[in-house]
Amino acid sequence: MTDRKRDVEKPVLVVFRHDLRVADNRALSAAAATGKPVVAAFVLEIDGGARPPGAARRWWLHHSLAALAKAVARLGGAPLILRRGAMGETVAALAREAGADLVHWNRRFEPAAVVADADMAARLFADGIRTERFEGHLLHDPARVRTGSGRAYRVFAPFWRALSSETEPRDPVDPPHSLRAPASLPPSERLDDWALLPEGPDWAEGLRACWTPGEEGARTRLAAFLEESVTDYAVERERPASFGTSRLSPHLTHGEITPAQLLTALKRRRGRGVDTFRKELAWREFAYHLMCSHPHLATDNVDARFDEFPWRQSAADLRRWQQGRTGYPLVDAGMRELWRTGFMHNRVRMVVASFLVKHLLIDWRSGEAWFWDTLVDADPANNPMNWQWVAGSGADAAPYFRIFNPVLQGERFDPGGEYVRRFVPELARLGDKWIHKPWAAPGKALSDAGLDLEAAYSLPLVDHQTARRRALSAFDGIRSTANDRP
Ligand code: FAD
Repeated sequence: MTDRKRDVEKPVLVVFRHDLRVADNRALSAAAATGKPVVAAFVLEIDGGARPPGAARRWWLHHSLAALAKAVARLGGAPLILRRGAMGETVAALAREAGADLVHWNRRFEPAAVVADADMAARLFADGIRTERFEGHLLHDPARVRTGSGRAYRVFAPFWRALSSETEPRDPVDPPHSLRAPASLPPSERLDDWALLPEGPDWAEGLRACWTPGEEGARTRLAAFLEESVTDYAVERERPASFGTSRLSPHLTHGEITPAQLLTALKRRRGRGVDTFRKELAWREFAYHLMCSHPHLATDNVDARFDEFPWRQSAADLRRWQQGRTGYPLVDAGMRELWRTGFMHNRVRMVVASFLVKHLLIDWRSGEAWFWDTLVDADPANNPMNWQWVAGSGADAAPYFRIFNPVLQGERFDPGGEYVRRFVPELARLGDKWIHKPWAAPGKALSDAGLDLEAAYSLPLVDHQTARRRALSAFDGIRSTANDRP
């Protein structure tokens, strides 16, 4: 056998991590195009690297991996190999076991993941194995978008203008027609042994009812959004009761669909809905841009003046917020939506986050960590960026005096109380007038609704006006400037 022929027989190893798809997967398509056998492997990083997924994302990951394994098999590929460990060590060992002379992967951006991937590349290089890295998770390389003076952007509006003047991102690539299976495969771990699904109480019923993890689920959701919601998106996206947004975030987080695929799907459409949606996708780009310039975005205040902020310690108040028992119906509906479905509407995310950091004066990191564990779309860039935006400690932050009034927010964005009634059934029979402020309802309205407020629901954990004054005085020393909102 000639050297050339032998090389064609040596497999290419494709490493999956945050890119659980076969379409618009450049690492995979380029591997197939080499004509070599392909070994497809997913590595669950358990030692260093990316932030470990929380419970809701572990549930998602289990199902998404099962879907990916099927998609690879449909292309004629060998079974997906599963391995756990530190990225560099695990991939180097896999490449050796597979006899691969080439390894492909799609680029990650989380600072610790970048370090892990550099280690992986160095180990493979030392073993004489060629490597190739591909793009796909974002529309633009966050390190290339720069201000006139060559710095990273701190404010969204000019960042958005800069993106808008960039050339349109690349077209998505088709999935490979087929994958050549190698003659032999390294052993795989078993998905069930990873225990990604809840053990003990099965809290995932609501997640199963709402979501179909995997690439096909993402495609179906995109089709429904284009068909039903994109036209009115600019308006309906603010109404938590309506399904007016795409709900593609968990699919984007897990790389089951790419922003390039979304823009391509929107290409021939015009209107305010489309423009607004494109701008929301740009917020995602901005979050990654910010994470690249602030590597400790999830733990450190971007604005160092917040380092001395006198956060309150109250495990009891934090618990009531987490459980949706604050006595403010919109806040409680949001927190219960999160617990039940692994998701929360964006408007309500802002309100509950503001309630935690402003009304309760609890450190934004406690809220960020809770979201990280419970959101199916928990994203290493989007989550901390938005929390810091709400807290006022971010680069492009909400002004410190913006303290959402949960009653007015409810009356404005959920005027009929439909969203509250869906997630706070105790209040289901209360009239529209009181649904966002049940403590103010006269006795008759409560008895007509069959509601003993204190026993069946909660009185407000804090009085809004008192909490507002307390927050303003605590935030007084730290005045941030008004900017755009995410
Ligand atoms: P759509 O309205 O359909 O928007 C389309 C896509 O644009 C989203 O899927 C998302 O990728 C992106 N996007 C929209 N809004 C934002 C935003 N404000 N910041 C960044 N990207 C955005 N989003 C996450 O994906 N993961 C998170 O962990 C996350 N945590 C958040 C925490 C807080 C406190 C707040 C206020 C917002 C957070 N968001 C997060 C942003 C936003 O709430 C979600 O992206 C959105 O609700 C997802 O629903 P959708 O897919 O229907 O969004």
